[in-house]
Amino acid sequence: MTIVVIVAGLVAFFDLGLRFADFIAGGDITATTAIWLSVCFLLSFTALSITVRWVLLNWGRLTRSVEARVDARYKALIEESKDYFFIVQQGEVIYASPSAASAYGPGNRDLSDVLAKLRPQDRALLEAAVHDPARATSAFDVHFEDEDDDTKVIHQLTVNDQTANPSVEGVIVTGRDVTPSRQLEKQLADMALKDELTKLPNRWALNNWMAEALARSERTNSVTALLLIDLDGFKGVNDTLGHPFGDRLLRSVAGRLAGVCRRNEGLARLGGDEFAIVVENLEDDQQALKLAHRVIEDIRAPITIDGHIVAISATVGIAKSTESSSADELFQHADIALYDAKARGRSEVAVFRTEMATLVESQTRLVQEIDTGLRDGDFHLVFQPLVDLIDRQTVAFESLLRWNSPSMGEISPMTFIPVAERTGAILPLGRWVFEESCRLLASWTEADNGRPLKMSINVSVLQLDDPDFLGEVMRIMERTGVNPNQIQIEVTESVLADDPQLIAGRLQTLRTLGIKVAIDDFGTGYSSMAQLRLFPVDVIKIDQGFVSGLDPDDPQGPSLLKALIDMARAMDAEVVAEGVETDEQRELLARLGVDVGQGYLFSQPLAPGDVPLYLAAGRLLTRSNVHSWSSVLEEWANEGES
Ligand code: C2E
Ligand code: CA
Ligand code: CA
Repeated sequence: MTIVVIVAGLVAFFDLGLRFADFIAGGDITATTAIWLSVCFLLSFTALSITVRWVLLNWGRLTRSVEARVDARYKALIEESKDYFFIVQQGEVIYASPSAASAYGPGNRDLSDVLAKLRPQDRALLEAAVHDPARATSAFDVHFEDEDDDTKVIHQLTVNDQTANPSVEGVIVTGRDVTPSRQLEKQLADMALKDELTKLPNRWALNNWMAEALARSERTNSVTALLLIDLDGFKGVNDTLGHPFGDRLLRSVAGRLAGVCRRNEGLARLGGDEFAIVVENLEDDQQALKLAHRVIEDIRAPITIDGHIVAISATVGIAKSTESSSADELFQHADIALYDAKARGRSEVAVFRTEMATLVESQTRLVQEIDTGLRDGDFHLVFQPLVDLIDRQTVAFESLLRWNSPSMGEISPMTFIPVAERTGAILPLGRWVFEESCRLLASWTEADNGRPLKMSINVSVLQLDDPDFLGEVMRIMERTGVNPNQIQIEVTESVLADDPQLIAGRLQTLRTLGIKVAIDDFGTGYSSMAQLRLFPVDVIKIDQGFVSGLDPDDPQGPSLLKALIDMARAMDAEVVAEGVETDEQRELLARLGVDVGQGYLFSQPLAPGDVPLYLAAGRLLTRSNVHSWSSVLEEWANEGES
């Protein structure tokens, strides 16, 4: 049968070759060619069948070699990878990639050998993860225990449960060395918590610290205190000697503060010229106070920088955890105490008391009321004459602010001006005072036949600090038609405290315009003669405290007054005495060479409507009874009523 098939096949091939050759040659073909073609066909067919058979027979082997190549690639991937792997089966390490061996040492066949390399707290972490991979955190850090130093190596591990996978039947642990990136993260975090200039912890670090300290003191029933330290007059130093100098001063203050602090006292710089100290486990009430005084003493000692000797002082506010429930509140309380200390002057310390917080609250309310009061026209001015002690002519009026609040009644300027100064509300208020004073002055000048009356206006340091102040003053004078030489501004000695250079410059500009500058409440401030010499002033107003207690028979009284008058004279300034209430005082002052007086003897502050009347009466009154103007006005009023 086979032979029949083979013979039939050969005949068929021969026929096929013959027909094809015949087709190519167009019927013209020899028998030899036909036989040769048939043999060629037969040979190619045999070759094809042999190839097909070989491929069919070797298929399995071929695919296996491809698989082996892929396997080799996987192996290389695992072995050369930065990540390492090991497979754990029931506490036994059945496979560890070479990099795992280099991390944990060769030949670690037991999980306990791997665990031994880690910090105790991390051993438990990995053990638990391998034991219960379903509950393990997706990725966690482990620290290597290093006997040599504390540059800890950190690895991040991932646990993958493959117990159900027949080719693994265990837990795959993948690891990676993350030491450099963790170090960088730590560095960045440290930077965020450190003050660049002084290298001290910064405000954020302090916040964390306070929160932790408060938690600890609650647990242990102990007291934590916070000291806020503010340098006095630092802005002045910074502006006059330059910022690089200011920076060096801050660094040296930081060094001194670090020297003052003990182990349980943490120091931080909050920014600018503010520092803070957290004291944990306060032994007694005196400890924080003593520390504050030590801080003040240490900072006060003169510092030499670049051949400059500077003396700087500090003011401290203290708050304790006994009154504060959170870090924020502790901070707020210390800030309120600092505020209170600052109000009392330099090198002061204040400990927070609950009354202070109520005070701040009422001040906040007052600020809001000032705002609405200004809008609703609840403020008005009164004017007190300044009288020449020799010829008893009124030379000027001082404008004094009054506030009749619909909700709180009459409020003294002694109450609201300090609040307005602290909060900045003095800026719009002062602007209004200036405008209203000039407006009224212009109207009186006109009514007084153009006699050049003068107006003395109280100006706060905040106004002088304000870069818009000068422009505003000029615009107001232009609008109201008042001449600059009709205006005198009264500033207290405290304006000299903060930024002497800037303020001196501003005052000089005002004087160049023709406006006079008076120092108010002279003798009550702390400015030294040397400091005052820096300041260009025209008038010195001796505080009423030196006048009211004046006893003509007391040799001490007049000598102090005389010293102040001499100082004023040395500065080439006109002298005004405040609070003149009796004729004896007036006489004595005139004898001591005081030029001008102000006080109830001459007149109470007058409502604006009374000023033209006062001026008219002043011209009618004789020299001998000019000082009884108050009684004249009273009679006048009584007559009007009856
Ligand atoms: P000051 O500038 O020293 O004003 C003098 C104060 O002494 C005024 O009190 C005045 O009424 C009072 N006084 C006048 N003569 C006598 C007297 O013979 N005996 C006594 N015992 N007192 C007399 P006032 O009006 O209550 O003002 C208090 C303070 O408020 C002022 O002191 C001033 O520092 C501030 N102030 C008033 N108005 C303004 C203002 O418009 N702006 C600013 N920044 N402060 C103002
Ligand atoms: Ca004044
Ligand atoms: Ca005064």
